[in-house]
Formats: sequence, C-alpha cells, structure tokens
Amino acid sequence: MIEVIKGDITKIKVDAIVNAANTSLLGGSGVDGAIHKAGGGAILEDCKKIRSKQGGCKVGEAVITTAGKLPAKFVIHTVGPVWNNGNNNEDMLLSLAYSNSLKLAADHNVQTISFPNISTGIYRFPKYQAAKIAFKTVTDFQTTSDLIKQIIFVCFDIENYNIYNELLKSENIDF
Ligand code: ADP
Repeated sequence: MIEVIKGDITKIKVDAIVNAANTSLLGGSGVDGAIHKAGGGAILEDCKKIRSKQGGCKVGEAVITTAGKLPAKFVIHTVGPVWNNGNNNEDMLLSLAYSNSLKLAADHNVQTISFPNISTGIYRFPKYQAAKIAFKTVTDFQTTSDLIKQIIFVCFDIENYNIYNELLKSENIDF
C-alpha cells in the first residue's frame, strides 16, 4: 500500500525511515539535519562506524543504522543525486536511491517504511520528475516483492504534497 502524507518524517512511527543523506554520512541540513537532531547521537555514531569501514555512501546507494530516539527501528540513509540539468544520470541514480533503500529494508524485515522527497531540496531535482521516479520505483518494487506492506511518502512542502496526491490519484501514470 502506498500512502501520501504531509508532515515531518521524524514524527512518523514506522519500522524504517529513509534519510536523504549526503555521501559523507556526517549529517547536513534539511531532512538530514532534522533526523540527526531528533534521533540523537546514536545515529551519527553508527554512521561514523560505516564511514570507517566503507568511507561513506555513494550516490544511489543506501546504508542502515539505528533510529536512536526516533519512533522507528531503523534509519536508512541514502544519497540522491544533485540535479545537474539531467546530464549526470540523475533519473537512474534517484531511482537507485529508492530501490536500494527498499532492498535494504526488506533484508531487515521492515514492513513499514517512510520516504522523504529525496533530492528535491538542496539538491534541486525537479519535483514533478522526482515524484514520478519515486512512484514508479516503489510500484515496480512492490510487483516483485510483497515483503514491505506499507510505503509512506512524507511530503514536507505543499508543492510536493500536491504533486504526490495528483500522482496517487491518477490511475494511468504516464511514466
Ligand atoms: P536533498 O539534499 O536530497 O535535496 P533536502 O533535505 O534538502 O535533501 O530535501 C529533501 C526533501 O526533504 C525536500 O523536499 C524537503 O522539503 C524535505 N524535508 C525537509 N525537512 C523534512 C522533514 N523534517 N521531514 C520530511 N521531509 C523534510
């Protein structure tokens, strides 16, 4: 089941919340900052351990940590692409950020997961295009696996919320 809500992802009670992180895994602004702030230092501790093992997280990949004080079991940190006018494989990399997060979640028996609108903040990915990629990727995943029961898109800004609702309602999304 796919749901769309408007709100703050740090408040959502699910098995895993996804963070739009950066390659350093050391925290940043936007949703990344909000997650580390609300979840406490345990998340950064785990991120640092991952960094010392594999040197951060590449664009399109995902890693998993504790959720610290958040009302979730895990935080899945993925890195979306910075928008560069479509010249750097951004569509594919954004899709990979969603699909690799879902795979990692399924490996950890996650049944409920919430996503922010990855790359549509500081990374400036066009919102409608990003939302279509997000829907297509999670829909494709659900046709191959029924391990994850509930996928929630948590929109923070009204523009994304309106776009996601429009896509959720349209029966024949033209991808
Ligand atoms: P990126 O660098 O991937 O663009 P940002 O954090 O700048 O990451 O933005 C990604 C999306 O997260 C944006 O749509 C922004 O509005 C949204 N966002 C910011 N804070 C929160 C929050 N607390 N909960 C959910 N979404 C948030």
